[in-house]
Amino acid sequence: MTSIQPWDLPTHSAATAHLQHPSFQPFRLQNLINGQTTPSPSPTLESINPQTGQVFAHIPNSTAEEVSQAVTAAETAFKSWSTTPATQRSQYLQRIADGIEAQRELFAVWESIDQGKTLARARIEIDRAISNFRYFATFILHEETAARWTETNILTYEHRSPKGVFALISPWNLPLYLLSWKIAPCLAFGCAAVAKPSELTSLSAYLLGKIAQDANLPPGVLNVVYGAGNPTGSALVRHPRVKGVSFTGGTVTGRQIRRDTAGDIGKHLSLELGGKNPTIVFDDVDVEKAVATAAAAAFENQGEICLCGSRIYIQKTLWEKFVPRFIAYVQEKYTLGETVGAVISLPHYRKIRSYISLAAQDPATVFHLGSVPDETPQDGYWIAPTILTVAEDSVLMKDEIFGPVVTLSPFETEDEVVRRANDSEYGLAAILLTRDGARMRRVGEQLQAGLVWVNCWLVRELGTPFGGMKASGIGREGGEYSRGVFTGVRTVHVPAF
Ligand code: NDP
Repeated sequence: MTSIQPWDLPTHSAATAHLQHPSFQPFRLQNLINGQTTPSPSPTLESINPQTGQVFAHIPNSTAEEVSQAVTAAETAFKSWSTTPATQRSQYLQRIADGIEAQRELFAVWESIDQGKTLARARIEIDRAISNFRYFATFILHEETAARWTETNILTYEHRSPKGVFALISPWNLPLYLLSWKIAPCLAFGCAAVAKPSELTSLSAYLLGKIAQDANLPPGVLNVVYGAGNPTGSALVRHPRVKGVSFTGGTVTGRQIRRDTAGDIGKHLSLELGGKNPTIVFDDVDVEKAVATAAAAAFENQGEICLCGSRIYIQKTLWEKFVPRFIAYVQEKYTLGETVGAVISLPHYRKIRSYISLAAQDPATVFHLGSVPDETPQDGYWIAPTILTVAEDSVLMKDEIFGPVVTLSPFETEDEVVRRANDSEYGLAAILLTRDGARMRRVGEQLQAGLVWVNCWLVRELGTPFGGMKASGIGREGGEYSRGVFTGVRTVHVPAF
């Protein structure tokens, strides 16, 4: 049993039969350094299946020394990778995309087991990861640059070159999708990567490492180190030979990384952080469509998407109609174990539970759906969709809960709802539901959010800037913006001969 690897188990039935076998031994993941899986001397961390609570993998808690080995490998690989023609880099990326595509179900199965998400949700994310590789593989084939002439006929043009080794750090909620959103542009634009997935969800990165090896990606171009934020992530971002950090995760960690890298002025920092996103429902909507959009934005991936709309503001004139319909729709469509997965971990379960308990203690709270989850969960970390109305000054209106919990609040006027929607330390996304075309722009352009979705949610065109305002982050990634992250620009001045 011990020699079996996750990639030997490409279907849900094969994977679960293996995990349930009495002699099952957890997989042991190894770092990918310089193209080789590398045994680690470090103590291991346990990776747990949130749907069952079972330990199913051990991952190395990589030390600063192992991180340094990975950075050295990346730095060596960078020398030739950065000068490899874009057409060739593009082909490598396409081969990686082909490799994931050929193993789509395998990736989805293990992403679901590792993260707790439903298999259907995992499949969507694997497809998006494939798109990330394909998008940047083709983007680099059509690059343009700006050129101007001075009054004295001196040609000036922008010339870009890859920056070097990047630390790519991702969270646990959309593991492969978010990691590939960093790895694909990093490699496409000629940089070398040391990636660190969350210690809670390392498996899809492990599978991706195998795909990269099978695609004959030159050794050292992509290295993957596993481990906790501290020591592994921290050693990686602080490493003096790492030229940039692309990080997605919580705002608290983002602040820490900013402090840890403050002394290194030249180190690029992209921070994609948390959110507490408003969904605004005006009384002119098509109720059925608005209910479906607001529910998806609240409960997809059990609310564990940074872009989820977790504060729903409903115009008072629509309240009586919208709220019962919303509750009925969520009851019908979002069922634990079917369309709603388990939350990531026991600590996260307890965190979400603590917010629901807090709300339950406040007499001002109305429970429209859900109840306080059991203190000690049985057989996995399951929390049913919970719909609440809480006091406006409740912490549930301020803090990112990052689970299947949504608040409903009435509003009267446009100005009022804009003010309340913007009354947050975060500014990642906002969802605006209205059929009034003028209002779409009038309100949409006032919302303090990096992404505003009108009558839709989670739509992404990969060339558009992705990132947040305020405490939701710094920098933007996507298409041209990612080029700005991974390449340095110089202006070259050339007089006429
Ligand atoms: P964390 O900030 O806890 O962790 C994110 C990553 O950073 C993990 O790989 C973590 O490792 C690592 N890390 C932790 N501490 C350090 C450190 N000091 N230096 C370097 N790396 C470190 O976030 P979560 O994983 O809990 O993810 C949830 C958060 O991510 C939510 O706030 C969510 O909103 C946000 N998010 C933002 C998105 C966006 O695009 N803006 C998208 C998705 C999520 P480890 O887990 O092993 O400790």
